Amino acid sequence: MSLLSVVLPSYNEEQNIANTAGVLAQVLKEAGIDYELIFVSDGSRDATYQEILKAAEKDPRVKGAEFSRNFGKEASIFAGLQLACGDAVVVMDCDLQHPPQVIPQMWKLWQEGYEVVEGIKTSRGRESLAHKLSAGLFYSVMSKLIKMDMNASSDYKLLDRKVVDVLTALPEKNTFFRALTFWAGFRTASVEYEVQERLYGVSKWSMWSLMKYAVSNVTSFSTLPLQLVTGMGIVSILFSLALGAQTLVKYLSGTAVEGFTTVILLVLIIGGFIMVSLGIIGHYIARIYEEVKGRPKFIISRVTDNVDGNATGSWGRR
Ligand code: UDP
Ligand code: MG
Repeated sequence: MSLLSVVLPSYNEEQNIANTAGVLAQVLKEAGIDYELIFVSDGSRDATYQEILKAAEKDPRVKGAEFSRNFGKEASIFAGLQLACGDAVVVMDCDLQHPPQVIPQMWKLWQEGYEVVEGIKTSRGRESLAHKLSAGLFYSVMSKLIKMDMNASSDYKLLDRKVVDVLTALPEKNTFFRALTFWAGFRTASVEYEVQERLYGVSKWSMWSLMKYAVSNVTSFSTLPLQLVTGMGIVSILFSLALGAQTLVKYLSGTAVEGFTTVILLVLIIGGFIMVSLGIIGHYIARIYEEVKGRPKFIISRVTDNVDGNATGSWGRR
């Protein structure tokens, strides 16, 4: 019988673990799916890992790992993928905002031969207007950049073993899981779901962390901002050609002295362009630097007894 692994990144979710494990167990048992639950505690500062241990005691199909510090949701997803033994793997939030009732649908599509089943949000749940607008902007930019429609896409998906192996073998450290499954291709289906309210605890994303997330994801998927630098260069060259012509004409006609304003404006504009360009280039150099150092995406500090030690690779190699 095929095994389904459910990967649940968890950061400071002590209030959610037991409930989520229970709900998932019930849904999956009812659907007759053989499963394992993999909770990856992302360096939580509360009792998340203790809760995972408790859940594992109750249900041996619960497995868990703890990071040595907070590495971010991407890292915990990838750690979960690496630890998963299933023939198919579902990734979902552990706050039950991704309704588990959708998993049997995803499973059915997988059995029909689909290798990626994307969870598509029908509504974004309750969010502030600013959040909605910035998320809308981010997704339309991302969709253009990777030339795939990822509006309403989320981290809630089912992946076939093949896809999981492809993703975990990627050498890059700065990953964007949501878009990588689009990038990977494979036979894809989608199911719709409605984002649920968070039952316990609070969202772990601040506006600032979302902004950092957006910039890091755009630059990990596209070099368009670098080409923007060339664009700015071309614009300022055209500009300076026009001004140069004007200056020459003035010089030749003997009225060349004034022009102080022009000089100041030019210095400011070009200076601004150069600064922005250096910033963009610097950002990419930083990304190259990070990748070249080759540090692991995450460091696992402990795992529950039922996790096969080899599954982690040598500790945190990836
Ligand atoms: N999460 C994580 N590491 C982090 C932040 C969040 O593993 O640094 C997990 C979190 O525990 C949850 C999921 O990612 O299971 C989504 O986070 P959250 O619910 O806070 O985000 P939102 O649903 O508000 O987008
Ligand atoms: Mg949530």
